[in-house]
Amino acid sequence: MADLYTYSLALTTRFRGIDVREGMLLRGDAGWGEFSPFLEYDAATSAPWLAAAREAADVGWPEPRRTSIPVNVTVPACSPERAREIVLASNGCRTAKVKVAEPGQSLAEDQARLEAVRDALGPEGLIRIDANGGWSAEDAIAAIPVLDRAAGGLEYVEQPSPSVHDLAAVRRKVGVPIAADESIRRAEDPYLVRDLDAADIAVLKVQPLGGVRACLRIAEDIGLPVVVSSALETSVGIAAGLALAAALPSLDHACGLATVQLLAADVVAPPLLPVAGELPVIRPEVDLTALATWSAGPERDAHWRARIAEVAGLGQDQSS
Ligand SMILES: [Mg+2]
Repeated sequence: MADLYTYSLALTTRFRGIDVREGMLLRGDAGWGEFSPFLEYDAATSAPWLAAAREAADVGWPEPRRTSIPVNVTVPACSPERAREIVLASNGCRTAKVKVAEPGQSLAEDQARLEAVRDALGPEGLIRIDANGGWSAEDAIAAIPVLDRAAGGLEYVEQPSPSVHDLAAVRRKVGVPIAADESIRRAEDPYLVRDLDAADIAVLKVQPLGGVRACLRIAEDIGLPVVVSSALETSVGIAAGLALAAALPSLDHACGLATVQLLAADVVAPPLLPVAGELPVIRPEVDLTALATWSAGPERDAHWRARIAEVAGLGQDQSS
């Protein structure tokens, strides 16, 4: 296998229940790839993540159709004060994606966060929310109009409820467009979203869906406008998301690729941070000094090497 390096980076704000992001970088003939399935993922779930890393390291990506990609700032389920700071520090992002429906938080907290984001973003900015399937269909139908008002209008709601059938039910009841995320990347059949008319927008993530080419095929087959999002990666993983966003036949929405801002450091210099709300379509070189600084250490390195070997072995089993 290619050269392997393990990284460990602190998050600036707790996100999806974690404070530290860990993963592995692969160096191959075509460049650097990132393999960073979340720690709780088993080998089968991690297999597409390895396929994406190998595509990046061994093959490279299709030709880009555009040179820069508008991106959203991502606001975790934080206090209104922190939300305001994050939006103001976003280097000109004109779209904000705000996490809502966090377990243990109230609708009033979501409202207050959205009011703060609107205030910081100004009247022209777009606000989208992501519930990560945190509501029942009934709760979503009640909450979305309330949050639409708090935000002064929502661009769309991402994954309001866990099941694709609930997504379809919510979509029929609310006026705000619906985006499908988990219903595509975690579903046995990503095309059920299309077949049930369950969403207006498809959120695609390169690692969970098996690479840039795999995502381009899904985009074509699903027939919905696409928003490319990250899986909270270093700039190495973000570059793959940019390659997908740059290769799509059309791109109507800002992408969720400005998440390097959520990491306290990065493994490339300079990191892929937005300028005037956009990211350049480039493939940054890894800084080996930074990589040594942010190495996860021998114990975690052994863990990740065992993990990648298990996932790679799984692929061989399936092909034999
Ligand atoms: Mg999402």
